[in-house]
Amino acid sequence: MIEEIFFKSAHELSAMLSRREVSSVELTKAIIERTKQLDSKIGSFLSFDEGKTLKEAAESDARRKRGGGGALSPLDGIPVSLKDLVAEKGQPLTCGSKILENFISPYDATVTERLRGAGCVLWGRLNMDEFAMGSSSENSAYRAVFNPWNINYVPGGSSGGSAASVAAGETILALGSDTGGSIRQPAAFCGICGLKPSYGAVSRYGLVAFASSLDQIGPMGRSVEDIASLFQVIAGTDKKDSSTFHFKKPDYLGELPKFQFLQKLGVPVEYFQDGLDPEVRAALERAIEFYRSAGHEVVEVSLEMTKYVMPAYYVISTAEASSNLARFDGIRYGFRSKAAKNAIDIYSKTRGEGFGEEVKRRIMLGTYVLSSENFESYYRHAQKVRTLIRDDFMRAMEGVSALIAPTTPTVAFELGKKKLDPLQMYLCDIFTVQANMVGTCAISIPCGMSSTNLPIGMQILGKPFKEQEILSLAYEFESAHGYKDLHPNI
Ligand code: GLN
Repeated sequence: MIEEIFFKSAHELSAMLSRREVSSVELTKAIIERTKQLDSKIGSFLSFDEGKTLKEAAESDARRKRGGGGALSPLDGIPVSLKDLVAEKGQPLTCGSKILENFISPYDATVTERLRGAGCVLWGRLNMDEFAMGSSSENSAYRAVFNPWNINYVPGGSSGGSAASVAAGETILALGSDTGGSIRQPAAFCGICGLKPSYGAVSRYGLVAFASSLDQIGPMGRSVEDIASLFQVIAGTDKKDSSTFHFKKPDYLGELPKFQFLQKLGVPVEYFQDGLDPEVRAALERAIEFYRSAGHEVVEVSLEMTKYVMPAYYVISTAEASSNLARFDGIRYGFRSKAAKNAIDIYSKTRGEGFGEEVKRRIMLGTYVLSSENFESYYRHAQKVRTLIRDDFMRAMEGVSALIAPTTPTVAFELGKKKLDPLQMYLCDIFTVQANMVGTCAISIPCGMSSTNLPIGMQILGKPFKEQEILSLAYEFESAHGYKDLHPNI
């Protein structure tokens, strides 16, 4: 029974825990063993604290033993791993950067607090592109992450450690963050599910900021049920983050089967043009056919602003990043250059030595578009374009409940293939950035395998705060296909 327990869903494990067929300590030990066995190959984790994690598991077991509804939530005792930019008190918080090497978080993020409140067992700190900038997890200052389906390929990024660890059974659930696709793109590359929540659905308190108007934390897991359960725990308004929205939280898990009735779905024509890999296109066409034969009406819609999404994103996100990352100056946090001789030196040498190439590129771009001579023509212009992108999206959504689209133009690519060409790397997010620019929710779930045995992801975009609808549509597809039971043979 203990065999392959690491591939069971949180949903099944929760039932097993409550029936006492397994304890949280046994489950957590299996996860720790699996991680130790695999992580030299995959590189999902930047650090972990076995003793602390096992203590949390033992506490969960004690709660369940007390009986009488002792469990704090269905996820009590389930291991959940955090991307290394979500603060967990007493644990490292490096953001995959040298500049935060040895930095220990003095407090918990709101999502971390909520996971504790639900009894989750917090397992390890997950590898990522430095400060969440990248699409391959090769920008980690520590080491790259490898795709568990084929270790010569990237797992996607920036939440590559989150996706790879979930896919490989090194954890049950994970949190990632998504500024332009960083939950959905690695989920697609690793064959798992990932939800980018609507802007304001999840607190960003304790999330190290990349681009504050785009960032959202979201759940990653091997099934739609699992991410619905995790989303239930982390979603909701927070007085520590004034950008969270007051909304009534539905029962995401309970409502999964509820929306499966004849919805009208849109297919954005701009997402199916040149550059889309034929195998990805074919998988999406099959998925669209599935929805059609299930009784949904599927219509073509147009997102005319699509070609402006990437340029506007790279103005807005770099501008916000250059301002957010100004705080890493060698004085307030973490690393300080040993070569610094005076105050100015501390700033410039610390930042020069502490940040990697991609982060410096973004800071320079962002500083440029915010400079007084360029502000109007770049930054303000991009903000106006962003409004048009939002209007365009809302117009396309008028007659439909959701959009069906590919998550990425291709399946995972080989390590090193795009690392030297930032523009090629940026284009990985061409289908995912839209949701961040609009502030709406979108999910990626597996919908096929390529002839090279790499997963293909389908994206479902919803209206703002309609997570339950896209989760349901995803669940409908998942229930009729076997992808959630496919695991990499590693
Ligand atoms: N890959 C995109 C970028 O590098 C998105 C990153 C993200 O969502 N954090 O900006």
